[in-house]
Amino acid sequence: MTEDEIIATYFRPLSGAEGLALGDDCAHLMPDILTRGAILNMDTLVAGVHFFANDPPDLIAAKALRVNLSDLAAKLAQPAGYLLSLSLPSSIGENWLSGFSVGLRRDQARFGLALWGGDTVSTPGPLSITITAIGLPTQGRTLTRKGARAGDAVLVTGTIGDSALGLRVLQDDAFAESLNPADRNTLVEHYHLPLPRVGVLDGSADDVTAIMDVSDGLALDLSRMCAAGEVAAIVDAPHVPLSKAAARIVESGAASLADILAGGDDYELLFTVPADRARDVIARSGCRVTQIGRIEAGEGVRVFDSDGHLLNLQRFGHQHR
Ligand code: ADP
Ligand code: MG
Repeated sequence: MTEDEIIATYFRPLSGAEGLALGDDCAHLMPDILTRGAILNMDTLVAGVHFFANDPPDLIAAKALRVNLSDLAAKLAQPAGYLLSLSLPSSIGENWLSGFSVGLRRDQARFGLALWGGDTVSTPGPLSITITAIGLPTQGRTLTRKGARAGDAVLVTGTIGDSALGLRVLQDDAFAESLNPADRNTLVEHYHLPLPRVGVLDGSADDVTAIMDVSDGLALDLSRMCAAGEVAAIVDAPHVPLSKAAARIVESGAASLADILAGGDDYELLFTVPADRARDVIARSGCRVTQIGRIEAGEGVRVFDSDGHLLNLQRFGHQHR
């Protein structure tokens, strides 16, 4: 298949009006949809680094889209469109492209966005997928990771650690065999298919003082939030929300809370609100939200266990370089 045939067969059917049927080199955004500006984000996923080359193509597509949507969610932006750059090794055939486009189609419908353009090239290297996502702000102000204030509550959506444990299931046979099959599946599913928290905090935007998504490990991302805001954070480790599967693993000693706090790929939202607003925000949000700690004056992140002892975090999280 030529590049033009690939675009016509698999990508044109996914395109929105702004993409001019992917036949005209560019997309055109009209000012009527940009009344509050646009939020832009780009993420690249490389086979062997961010996913396994033999993962199902529809899941690869969904993950590539969702890691971007998680960043838009942290700006409380509504997804609108995306650009897709594909670097394809010669081993990629029509079955793979078909599965990939099915995965994109499913999540476009679920999260309400359309394909606006992209690029398709051959590569002697690994499969690589770059997505630029474009979102529309739902707020008049720009929400950032900077702005947490002493006294604020630190909150997080969903549960922490499942994706990192899912990755460990895929890499560590002894660990995988120590788990019951249901837990094993839940964790691997979480690794393959994060759930971006699009829209869940829209009702609480006025209360949010700082916000970011957790992708490189809760401890590391919280330390980045603290650095940006020139504040410190205290985390109560027993309050960090764990799935039943993750709780059983910590209980058994097969992974520690420190591992959970340093594990990556959560794609949850980490945010702060004034302490007296925390209860309302938790009640109003569109998913599970938990207070895990508080902001203080100073710098850095300190995590305390149930006995009030400071946890020694050897590894804070994941950085590419
Ligand atoms: P050019 O020759 O200008 O680089 P291309 O042949 O790369 O143009 O692309 C033609 C059209 O197809 C453009 O509208 C481009 O945005 C779109 N396109 C190419 N690859 C993709 C892709 N992977 N996903 C979506 N649109 C694509
Ligand atoms: Mg091109």
